[in-house]
Amino acid sequence: MPQFDMIVIDPKRAKGQNIEAHEAGKPLRQGGGDETYRCGGCKTKLLVNVDHHDAHGAVIKCGKCGKVNTEPHHH
Ligand SMILES: [Zn+2]
Repeated sequence: MPQFDMIVIDPKRAKGQNIEAHEAGKPLRQGGGDETYRCGGCKTKLLVNVDHHDAHGAVIKCGKCGKVNTEPHHH
């Protein structure tokens, strides 16, 4: 199962996008696939065993370190 580090972006770049809030201690989403995505700042797992489509376009604020992450495939 592939694991990816997400890309930390300046929150200003995420303006106008839907930023999802992750809570420390549990993944934002889990299940449905085999891809795991970690915060690019602190390596906390934000999406665990999700389908690729669940991560596509995701913008997630890490509940642990507060950094805003975007998924790494489309940069
Ligand atoms: Zn983090």
